Amino acid sequence: MELKISNLSKTYSNGVQALKDINLTIPNGLFGLLGPNGAGKSTLMRTIATLQEADRGSVFLDGLDVLKEKHEVRKILGYLPQEFGTYSNITAEEMLSHIAVLKGVVDKSIRKSLTSRLLEQTNLFEFRNKKLASFSGGMKQRFGVAQALLGNPKILIVDEPTAGLDPAERKRFLNMLSEIGEQVVVILSTHIVDDVADICTSMSIISKGEVKYIGKPREAVGLLRGKVWKKTITKGEEKSYKESYKILSGKFADGMVDIHVYHDENPGVFEPAVPELEDVYFAAIHNYISNN
Ligand code: ADP
Repeated sequence: MELKISNLSKTYSNGVQALKDINLTIPNGLFGLLGPNGAGKSTLMRTIATLQEADRGSVFLDGLDVLKEKHEVRKILGYLPQEFGTYSNITAEEMLSHIAVLKGVVDKSIRKSLTSRLLEQTNLFEFRNKKLASFSGGMKQRFGVAQALLGNPKILIVDEPTAGLDPAERKRFLNMLSEIGEQVVVILSTHIVDDVADICTSMSIISKGEVKYIGKPREAVGLLRGKVWKKTITKGEEKSYKESYKILSGKFADGMVDIHVYHDENPGVFEPAVPELEDVYFAAIHNYISNN
């Protein structure tokens, strides 16, 4: 199964060009769509999920024309939106069963085994009789995935699912997605570099509506080998370094700033740094690198 996005463009009525000629091929497995806030991730996710129109371009899921055959797409697509509200005063199992009825699973015993399986898959089975209103952020997000998986989708889209989760919940959520990614095409949109570094088999970095990088996280890091340099400077020196070097990041530690810069060879007073995906991310969004 392959999702092929070609020349996809979208300008909102206020003039914001959210997608500029996006070309992306998304293979099987877990795909990370990484970009800062405002990059166009949600616009792209909602367009693929048939919830909004593009101005131009096409999206094909194998032979299926996603932008035209919306009804068919909805049968095989699960979607967890950025804002998934589950403040309901009914239990997880009741709610999931209710959504299953709406999706046409009318047989009670089939519905029972389906909801049990999904609650197990999302590590919520032991909480099935708890009210959704009492769920933590991570449990709500996992419930969101359970409902998105109800129709047995071939493709699952999750939009910024880890924002606001504490580290343990985030890890549990990503582990679960990783397992789901073994059977289903999963597109994970996120602004958190570690989400992608930890679990995605392939990725894209987008910024200002444009694709800057497509590839595998490990290859992306390899691209920067020998080109990332580090130095610890004072806060006062930061401004002049910003003017002279291609700064990737600056992190405060013990009253000093640990900076990473991008340069083809050692620009002089720096030490070599082992590149990480975060360096690739900043290099891509600052337009120092692009493979697209
Ligand atoms: P991301 O999900 O990466 O944060 P979005 O797709 O939400 O990015 O937004 C991309 C750009 O489009 C932003 O500049 C945002 O302000 C703008 N935008 C998003 N939705 C709308 C809308 N409904 N109307 C006008 N502008 C929008």
